[in-house]
Amino acid sequence: FGRDLIRNISIIAHIDHGKTTLVDRFLDITGTVEHRRMKDQFMDSMDIERERGITIKSKPVKLNYTARDGKTYEINIIDTPGHVDFNYEVSRSLAACEGAILLVDASQGVEAQTVGNTYLAIENDLELIPVLNKIDIPNANIEETLAEIVDLIGYKAEECLLASAKTGEGVVEILEAVIERIPPPSGDILAPLKALIFDAVYDKYRGVVVHVRVFEGSVRGGDRIMMMSSREIFEVIEVGYFLPQMVPTDSIDAGEVGYIIAVIKEVASAKIGDTITGATNSTPEALPGYRVAKPMVYAGMFPGMPEYYEELRKALDKFKLNDAALVFEPESSPALGFGFRVGFLGLLHMDVVRERLEREFEITCILTAPNVVYRVTMNDGTVREITNPASFPEPGEFAKVEEPFVELSIITPSDYMGNLIGFITTEKRGEFKAVENAGKNRVVMKFVTPLSEIMFDFFDRMKALSRGYASMDYDIIGYRESNLVKVTILVNKETVDSLSFIVHVDKEYAVAKKVVDKLSELIPQHQFQIPIQAKARGRIIARSDIKALRKDVLAKCYGGDVTRKMKLLEKQKEGKKRMREIGQVTIPQNAFLAILRIG
Ligand code: GDP
Repeated sequence: FGRDLIRNISIIAHIDHGKTTLVDRFLDITGTVEHRRMKDQFMDSMDIERERGITIKSKPVKLNYTARDGKTYEINIIDTPGHVDFNYEVSRSLAACEGAILLVDASQGVEAQTVGNTYLAIENDLELIPVLNKIDIPNANIEETLAEIVDLIGYKAEECLLASAKTGEGVVEILEAVIERIPPPSGDILAPLKALIFDAVYDKYRGVVVHVRVFEGSVRGGDRIMMMSSREIFEVIEVGYFLPQMVPTDSIDAGEVGYIIAVIKEVASAKIGDTITGATNSTPEALPGYRVAKPMVYAGMFPGMPEYYEELRKALDKFKLNDAALVFEPESSPALGFGFRVGFLGLLHMDVVRERLEREFEITCILTAPNVVYRVTMNDGTVREITNPASFPEPGEFAKVEEPFVELSIITPSDYMGNLIGFITTEKRGEFKAVENAGKNRVVMKFVTPLSEIMFDFFDRMKALSRGYASMDYDIIGYRESNLVKVTILVNKETVDSLSFIVHVDKEYAVAKKVVDKLSELIPQHQFQIPIQAKARGRIIARSDIKALRKDVLAKCYGGDVTRKMKLLEKQKEGKKRMREIGQVTIPQNAFLAILRIG
């Protein structure tokens, strides 16, 4: 293969718009030997994301396509994750390509995140091919969807292709357009190695498999390579291509996509966005765009029972081998004992970690409500990053508090504009910035809001207020000052530090009241009355009481069916793993997350 016979692309698409189906068609057309469907492969590795309807990255795939000009081209397709938590990874995957297919379901229209990812592609100088998919569906709105692409992305209608990934109509034209419109890679094969890491996956048997795009030079087995951010050196064991199964080869050269195996023990040593070069024959300058993944939300993670602390630590350590974005450090809470403060890229990332800890490591743990990272300037001018509400300073100790803000963009049918503007500006501390038309009867709106407001209890409300039609995307724009206060919760007159939260002063009373009410629903009745109180700035601002219980749990079936009694006890034992005794009160797991849904 000469360089001019290579094309490196990714596919930008909203969930369910047909990316997997399209790649399957490509595999069929090019006779790529792997007969298992892409979706089956997703199912193996990332069923959690799949169940939640979020596309997660699949392996890259290399196709050999014989085009109408009679030449056989190598097309590498690099996948991008479909969730804003992973935006940085998306940008690095795009940076590995010269072009992208922008796939839009013609019966759904352009969604906000697709626009966001398209801008990322344009920033990376990619050539785009807009494709309207699902044109076989009778109610496909081809005209309107084309108008949306023109308004939102700035492409002309004539530049868009029409296709059905399901029937195969128009799919060959997409491949032809890839060959014609997307430039081949450039880059000197004889220069020192310069390769971009766009993914790294941990394999139990082989260590870390690094997914790379080589920009200059080449890499082969036996080479000594260096990670430019850490200057760590590794010896290459094997290099190869994705067909999509891993197939070893002699070398991967400038312009190509493939994998490197080099006895790397954890993915943290192969950071996404980092540049790999030769250990001795090094390139002077790394590829642009690398940054350290920074956690955006933190939560406390405590073992279900204190004796499981070691197990939880081991599970987190193991998890970290495969997830460089996860950070954690030991934390001790007067209420919950020893555990960890864990940092995540976002709430989806948090859910994925928690579920995988449960499924793969059989660890049940108590997770406290997550919070963003606050920046507090103390009276003496020192600045602290607060990742735990419990360590938020008292009023009078600090000069100002800042929190992360985002630019939020929402695409919605115009009918729901009023609902959404009202919700975001009155309930979510949002500032309305602009609105523009996006095709017929649809608009794109821009707001500036605190990150915390859109992380908690936002997506479902937005969907409800727009009958499911609105879609959102956001970009973090930096820290801004906010008037925030800490609310502490007392259960049976004892402070439960792990239930503390930070809230804007305007919402202090309303949120505190909802939280104590919710907690009094979620905490079971005991033999005695339990007051639940919220305290802020030194005084009690809300209270709700749980009445005393009269009967014993087992009293109901005393003398009755023994197996039923056993089952009940068994269930209670299971449940206990997710409960904590605070003083004399038992608090169930869901109580710790109660404020998530109030916010
Ligand atoms: P992904 O989430 O973007 O990977 O989407 P999938 O490829 O899984 O497709 C989502 C759904 O749309 C599946 O039920 C597909 O069968 C269906 N689908 C994909 N492309 C087409 C198409 O061109 N026409 C029709 N009618 N359905 C399609």
